[in-house]
Amino acid sequence: GFLDRIEAVDPDIRAFITVTKQEALAQAKAVDEKLGRGEKLGMLEGIPMALKDNLCTEGIRTTCSSKILENFIPPYQATVAEKLHDSGAVLLGKLNMDEFAMGSSTENSGFFATRNPWDPERVPGGSSGGSVASVAADQAVYALGSDTGGSIRQPAAFCGVVGLKPTYGVVSRYGLIAYASSLDQIGPVTKTVRDNALVLNAIAGHDAKDSTSAVFEKPDYTQFLTEDIRGLRIGVPKEYFGQGLDPHVEGVLQEALRTYESLGAIVEECSLPHTEYAMPAYYLIATAEASSNLARYDGVRYGRRAEGAEDVIGMFCQTRAEGFGPEVKRRIMLGTYALSAGYYDAYYLKAQKVRTLIVRDFEEALAKFDVLLSPTTPTTAFRIGEKSGDPLTMYLSDVCTVPINLAGIPALSIPAGFADGLPVGMQLMGKHFAEGTLYKAAYAFE
Ligand code: GLN
Repeated sequence: GFLDRIEAVDPDIRAFITVTKQEALAQAKAVDEKLGRGEKLGMLEGIPMALKDNLCTEGIRTTCSSKILENFIPPYQATVAEKLHDSGAVLLGKLNMDEFAMGSSTENSGFFATRNPWDPERVPGGSSGGSVASVAADQAVYALGSDTGGSIRQPAAFCGVVGLKPTYGVVSRYGLIAYASSLDQIGPVTKTVRDNALVLNAIAGHDAKDSTSAVFEKPDYTQFLTEDIRGLRIGVPKEYFGQGLDPHVEGVLQEALRTYESLGAIVEECSLPHTEYAMPAYYLIATAEASSNLARYDGVRYGRRAEGAEDVIGMFCQTRAEGFGPEVKRRIMLGTYALSAGYYDAYYLKAQKVRTLIVRDFEEALAKFDVLLSPTTPTTAFRIGEKSGDPLTMYLSDVCTVPINLAGIPALSIPAGFADGLPVGMQLMGKHFAEGTLYKAAYAFE
């Protein structure tokens, strides 16, 4: 089964940090026995899946791909892990990622890089690179990832799978190791749109343990999977088709727009005028929140503690110097700077104002359209090492995904075709809580 598949292909792909073989076999056995007794199984019961390694699993090592949490065994479950467990899911293991979800290629993992199953010379994207690679390489039926600025959608696009960043608040973040709390969301990575809706059914919903979790009427997301999209209004934000977009990727997207027209949708150009400010605003807000969230790794409460320091301050410094990788350190420094007295108004407050303008852009566009459509990424998967020396170029692979997290709206990336033999992702964006509309538009296309 899947454990054999992992054994066969993971030495090349390297999607897994931990394989929970014993647990998986025990769970599978329980399901078998239930079947033997002639009992009915739930939708996800007995289905093997895996979790990004920033989701806490009780009694199972959870590293966030960081040396600082290398041997951290959480004493509690993330709400999503608990919900999937209750649905009878079989946990195969924990998946590689960029350290603390900071990155776009999974090369920032504190342990090893994951490879793109379509081309092992290329990155799978990130930060949920292990999640998408495991699904693309048939090592798991589905996986969960987290998305702060594109970390589910960008790798889903690079590996040709379906990835959803739900509306902020739809999925509980309890037990998700925090990166930037006002942006982070957990979402499903699957092969098909229907599977994605099924997994969202299992993980969405209000949770008293997460104060930012929304109170809302949870639909059955599979009810939206109908083929008829006649009259669906699709807006095409022109700013997402500008400079930096690979012409072959653009060609695939233009073809997709024609498909939508032939299915009876109404396709029109629209504008999100503040798009160019999303990236700088994101990197201020995300790093500011990260610098605060990561202050807890001091060697006292979690994970690694440096040996041999003279005093307690020395121990803090040494632990953090040894435990965090270069990208994490860079972001802590940027964030701390942006939050410093005297700089706060110029940077953090300004970024928050820009965030409001971006929210309004989406509100205005989504008042006219049911969904907005763009490429998920400006290019297909890049080569391992190609961007790892240049953080700014790396950051640009998220230009199309970052604004969505700032606005808190849902967005889905689905495979749209191929350019030069590599998968191209199409991003569908909708109103808050309109995941159903995204599934409807995606299902008709798929
Ligand atoms: N690549 C972006 C970053 O590094 C997004 C990461 C994410 O969504 N977690 O911040």
